[in-house]
Amino acid sequence: MSFHLDVEIKALLQGMGVAESEFSGGTLIVRSPLTGDVLAKVPEISSEKAIAAISSSSEAFNEWRKIPAPRRGELVRLLGEELRANKEALGRLVTLEVGKVPSEGLGEVQEMIDICDFAVGLSRQLYGLTIQSERPDHRLTEQWHPAGVVGIISAFNFPVAVWAWNAALALVCGNTVIWKPSEKTPLTAIATQALFLKAAARFGAEAPKALSTLLVGGREIGALLVEDQRVPVVSATGSTRMGRDVGERVARRFGRSILELGGNNASIVTPSADLDLTLRAVAFGAMGTAGQRCTTLRRLIVHSSVYETLIPKLVGVYNAIKVGNPVESDALVGPLIDQLSFEAMQSSLKAAREAGGTVHGGQRVNINGDASFYVRPALVEMPSQTGPVLEETFAPILYVMKYETLDEAISLQNSVVQGLSSSIFATDIREVELFLSAQGSDCGIANVNMGPSGAEIGGAFGGEKETGGGRESGSDAWKAYMRRQTNAVNYGRTLPLAQGVKFDV
Ligand code: NAD
Repeated sequence: MSFHLDVEIKALLQGMGVAESEFSGGTLIVRSPLTGDVLAKVPEISSEKAIAAISSSSEAFNEWRKIPAPRRGELVRLLGEELRANKEALGRLVTLEVGKVPSEGLGEVQEMIDICDFAVGLSRQLYGLTIQSERPDHRLTEQWHPAGVVGIISAFNFPVAVWAWNAALALVCGNTVIWKPSEKTPLTAIATQALFLKAAARFGAEAPKALSTLLVGGREIGALLVEDQRVPVVSATGSTRMGRDVGERVARRFGRSILELGGNNASIVTPSADLDLTLRAVAFGAMGTAGQRCTTLRRLIVHSSVYETLIPKLVGVYNAIKVGNPVESDALVGPLIDQLSFEAMQSSLKAAREAGGTVHGGQRVNINGDASFYVRPALVEMPSQTGPVLEETFAPILYVMKYETLDEAISLQNSVVQGLSSSIFATDIREVELFLSAQGSDCGIANVNMGPSGAEIGGAFGGEKETGGGRESGSDAWKAYMRRQTNAVNYGRTLPLAQGVKFDV
C-alpha cells in the first residue's frame, strides 16, 4: 500500500465525531476501490435491533410533528452548517470509499449543503390550496401533514447525497427518517449520521433522540423497512431489480414508495450541434465518475452528416483520458467499485462485439495490483440498438449509433425500458423544441446542449418507466413526504349538501 488509507480513514471519521467502536471489530468489511485495501470492519445491526429502531422512530415522529415547520428548518440549517464545516473531510471520505475524483467527492457534499439550503426555505412554505366551495358559507382548503417514518434505502454511487435529498425534505416536512445505506459504503453514512447528531445536539431538546436513525446492514435490513406498516414512505435508490421488489412489497401494504432506479441515458447529436461543446459534454457525461452515475451517458445517437467528424475525435479523447488513482494523480477516471462491476462490463463488451460492435478501449489498467479494478472507458460503435445497448451496465461504456431523421433518433432514444435522463445537442430551435415536446424525449430529465448527467438540486429529479417514476430534491418533490388533507368548513347555520342532494330529517 503506497499510502495508509486505514490510518487516514480513522482520522477522518474521528475528526467528524465518530467513535472507533462504530467502524472497527464488526462483520461488514469495507474496501477502498482505489487500492482494494480493507478500510474498516463495521458492526452491522441485528434484525431485532432494527425493528426496535423503527418503534423508536415512530415514537419520535409523534414529538417531531408538533414542532412548527420553520423551527424544524432550523435543525436542517444547522445540519447544513455542519456539512459546510466538514466539507473537505466528508468529501475526502467519499473519494476514499467510492473512488470518486476529489472534485466529485466535494461536489457530492456541496449537493447536500444545497438541498439543506433549499429545505430551510421550504420550511416556511409547504403550502396548500384554497379552493372555491360550491356551498354558501363554506370554506374548502387543502393542507399538508407529515407522513410519518420515512425509510431511505440508498445506492453506493451517491453514498451521502441521496440521503440528504430525502432527509432534508423529510425532516422539514415533520417526518423522522431511517437510513439503510449501501453495504458498500457504510463509512460515509456513519460520518453523515455523526454530523447530523452534532446538529441535533446544537438544536436542543426539541429534537427527539430517534429523529434520524442509521441502520448499517445488508438488503435484509432494508427489507424490514419495506415490510413494516409503520413506515408509510420508503424512498429507494438503486437498481431496477431492487426497485421492482421494493415497489411491489410496499404497494402490497398500501405504503408509498419513491423509486429512483437505473437509467440508460442517451444524447442526440444533430447536424446543427456545436461539436466542440458536444465533445466536452460527451466526455464528462460518459466517462465522469467512471460511468457509475445513474445519469451517465450510455448511448450517443449521431446524425450521419457529423458522425465522421465527431467520432474519430471522441475516440482520440477516449484514448487520451487519464485513468488512475485520483488521490495520487490528476486522473479524471477512477476505479470501478469492485470486481463484479468489472466482470459485468467485460461481459457487456463481449456481447456488443458479438452483436457486430467495434470496441475502442475497455481493457483493464493495472494501477494498484489485482485488488482494484481500473478500466479504460469503452466507446463502442454499434450497427444497431440491440443486445447490451438496451441494458444499463454500470460502467463506462458508451454505445454510438448513426441516425438519418430526428424522428428516428427520438424513437431510438425512447426505445429502451429506462426513462431517466436524455439530451440533445442542437442550435436549430425547431429540433430542440421537438425534442422537448410531448412527441420528444420520454424521460424525467431532458437537457439541451449538455449531457444527461449533473443535475442541480432545484429541479425535481427522477425518471419514468423502469427508472421508477419517483421524484426527489427540488420543485414540489416535498409533497411525496407528506399526506394531503382536504378540509371543508361550514361556518353558516344551514346544512347545504354538495351536488344539491336533499336529506331533510
Ligand atoms: P443495488 O440495487 O444493488 O442496491 C441499492 C440499495 O438497495 C442497497 O442499499 C441495497 O442493500 C438495497 N437493496 C437491494 N435489494 C434490496 C431489497 N430486495 N430490499 C431492500 N433493499 C434492497 O444498487 P447499487 O449497485 O448500490 O447502485 C447502482 C444502481 O443504482 C444503478 O442501477 C443506478 O442507476 C442506480 N441509481 C439510481 C439513482 C437515481 O436517482 N435514479 C441514483 C443513484 C443510483
